[in-house]
Amino acid sequence: MPHRAETESRKLLGRLREALAEDSAGQARLDHVVQLIASSMQTEVCSIYLFRDAETLELCATEGLQQDAVHQTRLKLGEGLVGRTAERGQVINAANAPARAGFRYMPETGEEKFISFCGVPIARLGQPLGVLVVQSREQRRFTPDEVYALEVVAMVLAEMTELGAFVGEGAALSAPHQRPEMFRGLIGQEGAVRGTVYLHEPRVVVTNPIAEDTEVELGRLRAAVEDLQTSVDTMISDSGAAGDQAEILENYRLFAHSRSWLRRMEADVENGLSAEAAVEKEQSLARSRMGRSKDAYMRERANDLDDLSNRLLRILTGQGSDTGADMPDDPVLVAKNIGPGELLEYGKALRGIVLEEGSVGSHAAIVARAWAIPLIIRASRITAEALNGDTILVDGDQGIAHLRPDETVQAAFADKIAMQARAQERYASIRDEPAQAKCGTVISLNMNAGLMADLPSIESSGAEGVGLFRTELQFLIRNKMPKRSELSSLYGRVMDSAKGRRVTFRTLDIGSDKVLSYMKPNDEPNPAMGWRALRVGLDKPGVLRMQLQALVRGAAGRPLTVMFPFVADPSEFQSARAEMDKALERESILGHPLPENIEIGAMVETPSLGFAPQSFFDDVDFLSVGGNDLKQFFFAADRENERVRRRYDTLDVSFLSFLEQIVTRANASGTPISFCGEDAGRPIEALVFAALGFRSLSMRPPSIGPVKHLIRRVSLEEVREVVEDARTSGAQSVRKAVTDWLVFQQD
Ligand code: PEP
Ligand code: MG
Repeated sequence: MPHRAETESRKLLGRLREALAEDSAGQARLDHVVQLIASSMQTEVCSIYLFRDAETLELCATEGLQQDAVHQTRLKLGEGLVGRTAERGQVINAANAPARAGFRYMPETGEEKFISFCGVPIARLGQPLGVLVVQSREQRRFTPDEVYALEVVAMVLAEMTELGAFVGEGAALSAPHQRPEMFRGLIGQEGAVRGTVYLHEPRVVVTNPIAEDTEVELGRLRAAVEDLQTSVDTMISDSGAAGDQAEILENYRLFAHSRSWLRRMEADVENGLSAEAAVEKEQSLARSRMGRSKDAYMRERANDLDDLSNRLLRILTGQGSDTGADMPDDPVLVAKNIGPGELLEYGKALRGIVLEEGSVGSHAAIVARAWAIPLIIRASRITAEALNGDTILVDGDQGIAHLRPDETVQAAFADKIAMQARAQERYASIRDEPAQAKCGTVISLNMNAGLMADLPSIESSGAEGVGLFRTELQFLIRNKMPKRSELSSLYGRVMDSAKGRRVTFRTLDIGSDKVLSYMKPNDEPNPAMGWRALRVGLDKPGVLRMQLQALVRGAAGRPLTVMFPFVADPSEFQSARAEMDKALERESILGHPLPENIEIGAMVETPSLGFAPQSFFDDVDFLSVGGNDLKQFFFAADRENERVRRRYDTLDVSFLSFLEQIVTRANASGTPISFCGEDAGRPIEALVFAALGFRSLSMRPPSIGPVKHLIRRVSLEEVREVVEDARTSGAQSVRKAVTDWLVFQQD
């Protein structure tokens, strides 16, 4: 950075510090700031636009434009050069602004005299807060030094905006983090709760963006970077990582030792920023690059830098998760993303969870669902807005979070919660009653589980048994392969808690999105259709054998039910069953008691199995339709891809005909069949499955009440007629016909 720009920038920041330290109201401060910048930069115009709401920028102060336009001129995000600067998070430097694409003339400002324009985003940690603009009459591009000086000033303005320095008398802006905000995300787990924000990673607050003493700040920065480097080196040498993982960590280490990163931050400090503000300036740039880059490798690298910057900020400010707020009584966890292990550490105390990222099929989502904790995923920007202690309403049914809601929203939400509580009471009153439809048919309702902590729900939900125990969750929440003895004791405890009710253990279903951190990752082009579940178990039978032995030992002579996931052809089932036979033989030789009775089943998750020879249906002891996978392969629509996940209806007649065919074939062999995908827990879907002939359904425990309630109100024979009529009418889905009929039943 040339010497002149350094001194100019430092001088300007020095004057800004004085202006900001004055005990004046928000608007007076802003006015002073624009005057200072315009005079230091020798431009005719300097203006500050700040966000009024997530979509609208407002001219909040100006030197050089019409004063009447202040707080009157507003632009939408992306509108005009100012709106574009904010939207792209990038500097726009135009010698001839009117000729620039996207230019929009705002007559009330009197800006027609000013030809050149330079807009610099005011952003904190990638979150846009506003735009700093300079304009001049002369047609010229602003020099790189000038742009750099503006970026440094914008960084300080971002910190001050965040601290609420421009709020107050006459400023017509509300303080940050005080307005009610609504976040629209996606449904991870239904349910409505009111709670208090508890941030997984509390925001770091920087109160001193401008350096008082550059040498001191440089010393602080260098010492913090050294600390960071030592801690990263230790972390890596302690991790014992090998192969690909070691390579990834090595890249991370190199970044921590990067000279150019340190040099850029040093230059920012030399230009007047404090050490913290310098870290944030580079981090903000990295974040906006990350958002723009299409290259996955570059995004990964920018992610590393983001992570390292967070660590560095914690070192510099002494703030961090360990010094975060105490957990409130009604915590709603707000995080960018969270792993299942971390979620388990927080435990069931959480009232709700709102994530910026995440996916419905993620392990954390599975854990949240198992615990019936309302979960919203993909609620963008929420970690930038929410503060520890804010009130938050989580509407998991709609995928909406209301942060700092106003009274009307709170009242409407309280009504919704009360209504749900009344429904829960209704379900509790039928908990011990059978799911018997009016026509007399009884449907067995079971629960899905995967953690020991799920088992108490067996009593409270009224489940007949566990229709699907996802054994991989035990593997996923650990950081090393569990031992056989640990597993057998766990399986034994699961059976103890079930108190004689049937528990269907599904053998390990890893691969696809379920990746074990301690197993070598497989770089597969399409993991959902790759080396997963039983395919892994048969090709590398060590773990499968260990698990089957653990199941036999855990049963300790009691009846045992085991099913194999992702069977695509009968020979795979036969090989898996042969493994079970060998395990039984080995256990018997070792003198362990064998199960009193053993049932071995297969999951129907691939369309091919529906067309298997009838002998397969004769061979299996039972079948369970894994609708999540079966549907994704039937419609060729990735269950993890939000774009296509809901594109095809489960009640589509083609899918229903396929399901019916599977039920008919199972019945012809006298083989019990159940449905254990997520759809079994949706009342209308459950009703239609029962009408098609499924006599057993397995679902999340909280779904049992609503499903039972609906089944008991109708005759399945009548539902079947409605489904038939809809099918013959040529409808693509029977959903409308069934819901219309149900409404009619209610009248
Ligand atoms: C399914 O695919 O429907 C199923 C129950 O298995 P998972 O969701 O664990 O893949
Ligand atoms: Mg599956």
